[in-house]
Amino acid sequence: MSGYFNKTLWVLGAGQLGNMLQHAGYPLGVDVKPIDIDAESAPVLDKDDVVTAEREEWPKTPVTNALSAHNNFANQDFFATIADRFLQKSLLDKLGLATAPWQLVKADDSEAQIHQNLGERVLLKRRKGGYDGRGQHWLKQAENSEIPADWHENAIAEQAINFDEEVSLIGVRDQQGQCYFYPLTLNLHQNGILTASISPLDRLKPLQATAEAMLTKLMDAVEYVGVMAMECFHVEGKLLINEIAPRVHNSGHWTQAGSNISQFESHVRCVTGLPMIQPSVRNTNFMINLIGCELDKDWLAVEGSELFWYQKSVRPGRKVGHINFSKTGEKNIQSALEQIEPLLPEQYQETIAWLKAELLSPSA
Ligand code: ATP
Ligand code: MG
Repeated sequence: MSGYFNKTLWVLGAGQLGNMLQHAGYPLGVDVKPIDIDAESAPVLDKDDVVTAEREEWPKTPVTNALSAHNNFANQDFFATIADRFLQKSLLDKLGLATAPWQLVKADDSEAQIHQNLGERVLLKRRKGGYDGRGQHWLKQAENSEIPADWHENAIAEQAINFDEEVSLIGVRDQQGQCYFYPLTLNLHQNGILTASISPLDRLKPLQATAEAMLTKLMDAVEYVGVMAMECFHVEGKLLINEIAPRVHNSGHWTQAGSNISQFESHVRCVTGLPMIQPSVRNTNFMINLIGCELDKDWLAVEGSELFWYQKSVRPGRKVGHINFSKTGEKNIQSALEQIEPLLPEQYQETIAWLKAELLSPSA
C-alpha cells in the first residue's frame, strides 16, 4: 500500500493556491500534485485520479490538454462560464442573483450611450484574463474618458458602486450536495488588490444567512463540488455580487489559522470524495497580504504570526505571501498590529489603520 487513500489530485497551475492545496492534502493522505501549465511534458494520469484548477482559464498546452481530457476534472464546464465576465454576469442574472448593473460593451456602443445606461462613473472590465484590478478601465463622464481600442465586444461595463465595504463568502459543496460555509469575511482592497481580510465580525452576522442563500443557489444550480468564493459589495444593508471564483480564494486564506478545516482542506476533501464536516472557526482572524515586498525574517518574531511565503520573485504589485493572525482579546490584537506595522513598507500604514479601526474599540 502506498500510505495514501490511493488518491492523486492534480492541480492545473503551480502557483501559491496549488501549493497551499498540496500543503493541506498531505495530512489527509491525499497526494496533491500542482502542475505548471507550461511544463514541457504532459503528465500521465490514472483513470481514478482527480483534477482541479487553481485558475479560471488556461491556454492550450500539453499539460492543460492532458488534464482537461480527464473524466474526473471537478466542475470543468463551469470554468468557461466563470472565466468570461459576460457569461458569468449573464448566469447571475438568470439566477436572479443581484450584481452591479452592467452591459456588454457592444461593437457600436459609444461612451455617451454607456453613460446613459449606467451613469456618470462606469468601470469597464475585460471579459477575460483580468485579476488584481488588471484589465479594468474607468469611464468617467466628467473626464471624457474613452473606451480603449479593441475593448468593444471584449469587455463589460459596470456601474460604479458606491459601496460601504467589501465582503466575501467562502462556500463548500460536497459530492452529496451538502453545503458548508465559513463566516463572512470583510476585505480591504487597495488599488484593486486585496490587502487585508478579517473574519468573523459580529456586525456581519445579520448578512450571513442571505449570503449563504445566494451562494447555495449558485452552487446548486451548477452542481458544484468543492470551494467557491463569492465577492460582494455591501451597500446599505444589501449584498451585490461583484464576482465569483470557482476555487479557493485569497479572502479565505485566514481559514488556515482560524478554522480546524481550512478552505484548502475543504476543497481537497470534497473534490476527492472524502467525508466533509462543518468547519469550526475559532478566535478573530485577520490576514495581511504581502504585496511586492522582500521577505523579512523579523515577521516570524511577531507573536502569533503565521507566515506563508510563496517563493516567487518579488515585483511591484505582485502577491508574494501573506501573514495570518488568529487572536482573542483587543489587547492581543493591538499588540500584534503594533509589532507588525514597523516591519511592513510604508504603504501598509493605511492597511494597519483599517485593521485597527475594524478590530479595536475607539479608546484603544
Ligand atoms: P480579483 O483579483 O479579485 O480577481 P479582479 O481584478 O478580477 O479582482 P474585481 O474583483 O472585479 O477584479 O475588481 C477589483 C476591485 O475593484 C474590487 O474588489 C473593488 O474594490 C473594485 N471594483 C470592482 N468593480 C467595481 C464597481 N462596479 N464599482 C466600484 N468598485 C469596483
Ligand atoms: Mg475580485
